[in-house]
Amino acid sequence: MTERPPDRIAAADEPSAIAFGEKLLALLDTGSFTTSYKYALLLALLDATLEGTDPEGAPPRWLSGRDLGRRVLELYWRQARPYTDRGPLRQSALRDLVVKVADLRERLGLPEHLPLAVARQRHPTAVGALERDAVATVIRYPIPRLQRFGSGASAVEDRFLYELGWDDMISPARVHREDFDDRLHLVPGAGRHLAALVGLVRPVVEREWLRHVARRNEGDVDELRLESFLFGGERMSLTALRDPLLHLQAGRCFYCGDARGPWEVDHFLPWSRWPDDRLDNLVVAHRRCNHDKRAALPAVSHLERWWDRLRPGGAASRQLDDVADEWSWPRQPARTAAGARGLYHHQPPGTLLWVARGEVEPLDPGRLGRVFGGAALAADPPAPGAGR
Ligand SMILES: [Zn+2]
Repeated sequence: MTERPPDRIAAADEPSAIAFGEKLLALLDTGSFTTSYKYALLLALLDATLEGTDPEGAPPRWLSGRDLGRRVLELYWRQARPYTDRGPLRQSALRDLVVKVADLRERLGLPEHLPLAVARQRHPTAVGALERDAVATVIRYPIPRLQRFGSGASAVEDRFLYELGWDDMISPARVHREDFDDRLHLVPGAGRHLAALVGLVRPVVEREWLRHVARRNEGDVDELRLESFLFGGERMSLTALRDPLLHLQAGRCFYCGDARGPWEVDHFLPWSRWPDDRLDNLVVAHRRCNHDKRAALPAVSHLERWWDRLRPGGAASRQLDDVADEWSWPRQPARTAAGARGLYHHQPPGTLLWVARGEVEPLDPGRLGRVFGGAALAADPPAPGAGR
């Protein structure tokens, strides 16, 4: 039985979760942003911190700037789809990453919902160049500027998230040098707070981002449609996976085991905490179970069964591979598993987990050790499910 390691109790010099959360809110409030990079970087930081959580629940000590750049590109990849017949939404007055992604999509004639991983495999040179550009942009602009409060001469820097070894004068050539140290060292407490607050922080960042886009596209947007366009899953295309996934569950609801529909494809780890459309995060549930579960984390008994599906070499994992191949749907079990560890490990003991309709149970952190304590999943192969 694994108890929470002592390093997860706040040291005296760490900010409290409340003080930390207040700083994040102040960051979102401060100044006017000329681009949406700050929002994208914040979401990338949340995801990278969750994924970097180790099997015992300790958050990462540092994050890679290059990795954050690639995550930011992934966010814009979806958002640069055409929104109206006039094209994609504007997010700044500059030739920013959104414009560059949109140009590339058009130039290569990519289908609207093609995942970035698949596009990279089909067009390695063009997408690779875009990726390098995104990495350089994120390392040069939002990363060194994120922790500045206020604007102009009165701006104050407060490194409450990370320390880093460069500033915004860094040249693109240096960013791409092999020996460039791209690490962002998380300050004490920051990783733990980011991971624990993800359920609160993500919706706030998304709302601010949405308002930024709405202001720049006045008259063109309907906020509900905009929200699902910017941050929603690919609900339409998920329906195609319902039957193959149901087959994998022997025709039964993943949660209650009932064999009667109507069926819906559900994100096991709730979309609002961890937006992951990869196959590993998808299960089929009753409409009733799905709607009752909403944004809650499923109980540990559900987690155990779900975790078992990710085990490399297991029968379920092989079946998921087949579905991924047949439907050209990405699978990255190691990344999805890392997200699960991050989400569950950082919930305080007693957090209510969803068991069944109208039923919840308090989280017992000791049980997580038994689920996550086994051998770590091997690294994912590149661009899974990208065969055709
Ligand atoms: Zn059910």
